[in-house]
Amino acid sequence: MSSIADHLRAVRARMERAALACGRDPAHVSLLAVSKTFPPEAVREAYRAGQRAFGESYVQEAVEKLAGLEDLRADTEWHFIGPLQSNKARHVAAHFDWVHSIDRLKIAQRLSDLRPAGAADLQLCIQVNIDAQPTKSGVAPDEALELALAIQGLPRLRLRGLMCIPAPQQDPVRQREVFARLADLMHELNRAGLRLDTLSMGMSDDLEAAVAAGASIVRVGTAIFGARQ
Ligand SMILES: *Cc1c(COP(=O)(O)O)cnc(C)c1O
Repeated sequence: MSSIADHLRAVRARMERAALACGRDPAHVSLLAVSKTFPPEAVREAYRAGQRAFGESYVQEAVEKLAGLEDLRADTEWHFIGPLQSNKARHVAAHFDWVHSIDRLKIAQRLSDLRPAGAADLQLCIQVNIDAQPTKSGVAPDEALELALAIQGLPRLRLRGLMCIPAPQQDPVRQREVFARLADLMHELNRAGLRLDTLSMGMSDDLEAAVAAGASIVRVGTAIFGARQ
């Protein structure tokens, strides 16, 4: 049976191939290992294989897991990527380095208010419902600019970019078209005066298309840790 270290090597190789295939520098794409539902020991195994950035989707689970990983905390980076309610914002502001799932101003304001004074700025991405899925969270593309401008003024936060979770899609050409829309939107926002440098897009099944469309962070769970229950 292959180990988490083997899986990580394979995922990094996929990322590198995808970057080289489209003339991108592989160093410009980073890997977020999505450890949700997996125990602290799985994180440690990934850590021993050189992985430093981890993603979590459930606040309660993440807070408990992090309590068991205190010794690694200073040398790891934690990204909150799940749906975020305001009553959980305090934990996220206290424990995470990044939040990818900002979809309304109220949440950003809460995070700004609750970010501990001594901590580094919380790095944020706005989640965009890029393919207009009826049940998905994220702002509509044409709402992103207004939200970005409002967030920009908030203390203790740094708006870094955009994130999307498109509907699963088999055709790599179609996958890439959807991701390219998020990249276009970031460029449009930058032309309007923002300074965004991060596209959080691509998961286990579509990371090649995301890298081809300009992803700077791919969020990969299953291909590293295995299938979730
Ligand atoms: C779970 C999750 C992932 C990882 O998905 P895989 O298909 O397991 O790679 C990526 N992004 C978000 C927002 C997730 O919730």
